[in-house]
Amino acid sequence: MLKKCKFYINGQWVHPVDGTDHLVIDPSTEEPTTTISLGGQTDVDNAVAAAKAAFSGWTATPVAKRIALVEKLVEIYDRRSEDIAKAMSTEMGAPYDMSRTQQVGAGTWHLKNFIKAAKDFQFDQPLNDHTPKDRIIHEAVGVAALITPWNWPMNQITLKVGAAAIAGCTMILKPSEESPLNAIIFAEMIDEAGFPAGVFNMLNGDGAGTGTALSCHPDVDMVSFTGSSRAGRLISINAAETLKRVHLELGGKGANVIFEDADEKAVKRGVLHMMNNTGQSCNAPSRMLVERSKYDSAVQEAALIADSVTVGPASAEGRHIGPVVNQVQWNKIQDLIQKGLDEGAKLVAGGTGRPEGFNKGFYVRPTVFADVNNQMTIAREEIFGPVLSIIPFETEEEALEIANDTPYGLTNYVQTQNGARLNRMARKLRSGMVEMNGASRAAGSPFGGMKQSGNGREGGIWGILDFLEIKAVAGWSPE
Ligand code: NAD
Repeated sequence: MLKKCKFYINGQWVHPVDGTDHLVIDPSTEEPTTTISLGGQTDVDNAVAAAKAAFSGWTATPVAKRIALVEKLVEIYDRRSEDIAKAMSTEMGAPYDMSRTQQVGAGTWHLKNFIKAAKDFQFDQPLNDHTPKDRIIHEAVGVAALITPWNWPMNQITLKVGAAAIAGCTMILKPSEESPLNAIIFAEMIDEAGFPAGVFNMLNGDGAGTGTALSCHPDVDMVSFTGSSRAGRLISINAAETLKRVHLELGGKGANVIFEDADEKAVKRGVLHMMNNTGQSCNAPSRMLVERSKYDSAVQEAALIADSVTVGPASAEGRHIGPVVNQVQWNKIQDLIQKGLDEGAKLVAGGTGRPEGFNKGFYVRPTVFADVNNQMTIAREEIFGPVLSIIPFETEEEALEIANDTPYGLTNYVQTQNGARLNRMARKLRSGMVEMNGASRAAGSPFGGMKQSGNGREGGIWGILDFLEIKAVAGWSPE
């Protein structure tokens, strides 16, 4: 078995000081693949000390130089894309083709968008045309702890590291213990690109130990976190003692509102979007709300589409969905499917247990429930598996009420040919993002949520702004 226990601290690959061994399991086979180390308090202290020491030099480095290093990183990233894709497939189960295109592609996209946004942004500017003596200076927050999840691992790493680096922050990345292998490759790429020692540090670790040590650390100025609401809450509590800035990108329970006049591909698109990445996306459209007049045909179609989704190991070529990440998630999804049945939802595709032909691996049957009401557990909790709930509605007002009746507010979706209705819905849906008629957000658009989906924004200039303080200066001299 591979051993990848070292951490990248202060520009060096170092042995853990007080780490503990942890096995990375391939969810397609349930076999252990690699031993990593989970960092202890001394390892965290060392990484934070390196980031703190590097801060003054890095933040004083001209932004053009910081951008140039990220450009170099993109070149290396492109060259190593196959390694990254394989690592993610092995550790979190994304089918290899999907891993190469969507998972790896997301990283390139984010880094390039940051470069463009930063080139267009004035980090230092007058307050306005009438106040030459008032100056607004954007400067780095300081030492940032970046805690990332396993579901879109490289997507999250690039969103945080790219923005923090350009903003002038130094950082400690703690990827998910479920998906450390792509992060190790990322640290190798940072090293090759020639980032100064201490600017980027990476240590593996779990949430309760390493993650808590970072959240509590007095020399960490900010935590940027993506993952569960449970962990987001704990990080906020742990960070409160030192009043550090906490940016959260948490879960979602997106509504996909399909009106009678939706285009003919709307239902198919919604089901396939739900199943993508085996349902493990915070922005998954997991509640399909369908206007009553279209409801029966939509349920029938959704069931057929879900039945046509094939499931297979990450190593198999072609279009299919892989396993979910681990036993805990598999069990949680099974329990929620059972809850759906117990609470009276109508199962029209999939169900509990592994798909036919599998007796090993964390595979889940693509599942669709109809006749769901918004108070059922499957409509309220983020399932993070390939499970869709379909809910009927009568009027636009009712659709809005159901869509907004959730603690979450990440992405909602609307399908209708009525332009005025599209825009009305976009304004009234309480979520950080609204995507309509299959449109996806353009380059540089911010990703983030309202309510219990979090408070940060990632991507483009908004992603960089998350890592910047705004300094207001009065009495600026023309020199
Ligand atoms: P998690 O939130 O526990 O893990 C995500 C990251 O947070 C990992 O790096 C983990 O080590 C770290 N972490 C966990 N507890 C922490 C703590 N107390 N302090 C600091 N860091 C901590 O996610 P999970 O347990 O792997 O998944 C459980 C659920 O989380 C899923 O079912 C899903 O609903 C949700 N989730 C959401 C996202 C998202 O993108 N919004 C991503 C992953 C998981």
